[in-house]
Amino acid sequence: MVRVKKTSDADILKPNPHPSRERTLVLIKPDGVQRSLVGEIIRRYERAGLKLIALKMLVPTKEQIEGHYTLDPQWRRVTGEKTIKSYLDKGIEPPTKDPLEVTKILLERLARYMTSGPIIAAIWQGAHAVAIVRKLTGSTEPLTSDVGTIRGDFVLDSYQMTDADGRCIRNLVHASGSPAEAEQEIVHWFSPAELINYRLIAEQILYDVNLDGMLE
Ligand code: ADP
Ligand code: MG
Repeated sequence: MVRVKKTSDADILKPNPHPSRERTLVLIKPDGVQRSLVGEIIRRYERAGLKLIALKMLVPTKEQIEGHYTLDPQWRRVTGEKTIKSYLDKGIEPPTKDPLEVTKILLERLARYMTSGPIIAAIWQGAHAVAIVRKLTGSTEPLTSDVGTIRGDFVLDSYQMTDADGRCIRNLVHASGSPAEAEQEIVHWFSPAELINYRLIAEQILYDVNLDGMLE
């Protein structure tokens, strides 16, 4: 038996405390769809053992994108500071020293990018879903993302390119940064009826404590 507490339909939007029930939100960004990488990206998460529990295609609005990136009240400050640091590390003077001003510009660019065409929204569930998906996705800038990751293998953008062109990094995928962020993002993008509660046969070999019921 898989000793995992079942989720009732009424509780489907609430996080389940068992580690094998961790969930994360993935968005395949407009460039991922345009590059015909939807199947490849889904395959990478799927073959790691994660369970797909919701999936849809949509063209997001500017409000949905701004809402998504500002769900975490710290995001504006942290992302602004990260961006300023990346300028300083390269010996370049940032356009402004105010992290919130930097993020305001970035949000405009993100909205332009993310509303440019259809995206795929998905929820993946499984042990360490957030960290596993971030590892398979790779770091933000494709130029420096590890080989073997989605951002490292399928795209070639860099801060140098985006700064010169006044746009944001095109890196194919969004993946939640923490379990708490994932839960907020899930509620932002999905209604309870869109999540499917089901058993995946592979979960037995991944999580079953006793591995009984395998041999005849
Ligand atoms: P991640 O998607 O890796 O979690 P962030 O949350 O920091 O990265 O930023 C959200 C998205 O904004 C990135 O995926 C990327 O598309 C874009 N972005 C972030 N920082 C920059 C930057 N300094 N210049 C251009 N685009 C950026
Ligand atoms: Mg992020």
